[in-house]
Amino acid sequence: MTPSADRDSTLKRLLGPVGPEVTCDECFDHLDVYVEVELAGGDPDAAVPGLHAHLDGCPACREDYESLRAYVSR
Ligand SMILES: [Zn+2]
Repeated sequence: MTPSADRDSTLKRLLGPVGPEVTCDECFDHLDVYVEVELAGGDPDAAVPGLHAHLDGCPACREDYESLRAYVSR
């Protein structure tokens, strides 16, 4: 096992079983796609894997998501 692989598994243990990791920057980049697919009746979790888990754990992005959703669905 390489040192970096060891660090990765430690990080995953700390973060829990959340699937693909999404940072706030990535979340912000893909949020419009996620909302678009969701409002079109598609599967946003398939379009942007891991974003739903990020929204659940990140109040700031959750707020962005909700205002974007309200804006787009108007
Ligand atoms: Zn975030």
